[in-house]
Amino acid sequence: MLDSFGRNITYMRISVTELCNLRCRYCMPEDGVCKKKHEEMLTEDEIINAVRAAASLGITKLRITGGEPLVKKNIVSICRRASQVPGIREICITTNGTLLPALAKPLREAGVGRINISLDTLDADKYRYISRCGELTQAIDGIHAALDAGFDKVKLNTVLIGGFNDDEIPALAELTQCYPVDVRFIELMPMYDSGDFGPEAYIPYTAVLDKLPELEPIDPDGGVAKLYRLPDAKGNIGLISPVSAHFCAACNRIRLTADGKIKPCLHSGDEYSLKGLDYEGMVQELQKAILCKPSWHGVLDAENRSHAGRNMNQIGG
Ligand code: SAM
Repeated sequence: MLDSFGRNITYMRISVTELCNLRCRYCMPEDGVCKKKHEEMLTEDEIINAVRAAASLGITKLRITGGEPLVKKNIVSICRRASQVPGIREICITTNGTLLPALAKPLREAGVGRINISLDTLDADKYRYISRCGELTQAIDGIHAALDAGFDKVKLNTVLIGGFNDDEIPALAELTQCYPVDVRFIELMPMYDSGDFGPEAYIPYTAVLDKLPELEPIDPDGGVAKLYRLPDAKGNIGLISPVSAHFCAACNRIRLTADGKIKPCLHSGDEYSLKGLDYEGMVQELQKAILCKPSWHGVLDAENRSHAGRNMNQIGG
């Protein structure tokens, strides 16, 4: 379905839970989330009905996210059922990776094709600091489990944070020379309550180009990342610039939150509720949401925070 600016909306991100086993500083508050009532959240059947409704309007690609999607006890069943919905061609998942040793194979068998794993640092102390409680070894074990499970693509997501991990850009990029993975550097977005990062933390994607002059540009693959490659690499480097060079004109996404709200734009407070609706009702509400998708997300920087009205763990990234 085309939105009112002629963009073809083919991609829905579904957050299946707001809960997470980590507490990343840029994503959620230290004390976690104010746990909502079970009745407020979408059931598995409602999620699948939303996928059917979205597919009827032209959604072909899904990304399952959270919170941490792998803490959801029925995650494998959700992925399997979603992958069987007619019209859905691709299911991807974004995870912190810590629970992949047990779940990588079942997710692959359930129809998940691609997997993105968050990895902001290769230093165990810094990992514990940024995630407030995580162990780097668990994330690394998760990456190996994903590689062993044979996903079509494994991507590592690094949020670029000036003064925290810009010194690790070469080491993180080098992973593409050692393993068949893509590494994507994502500019830090100033969310509602996403940590007390000062202006120096908001560095542009060009910081990666400055640190790695040997990067060769390559053709885009239809996604929002600007793509590059290191010499003799097995995977690509992706640079994602929602802050310094937004890509709203090419945005083909909508988002579904775990409490059933369609967000036509990540950084807008506008939401359309699917909770409690039947299939027809969901189709109508999705149509409304797509037609109201704004042309762009507005200015974002250290002074101008997102208008999303939620932290990232309550949207899905
Ligand atoms: N728990 C999973 C994970 O860690 O990947 C999935 C949910 S997380 C919200 C999805 C993605 O959003 C992650 O790659 C995370 O790094 C990114 N993210 C969260 N907050 C962000 C922020 N303020 N700016 C940029 N990226 C952010």
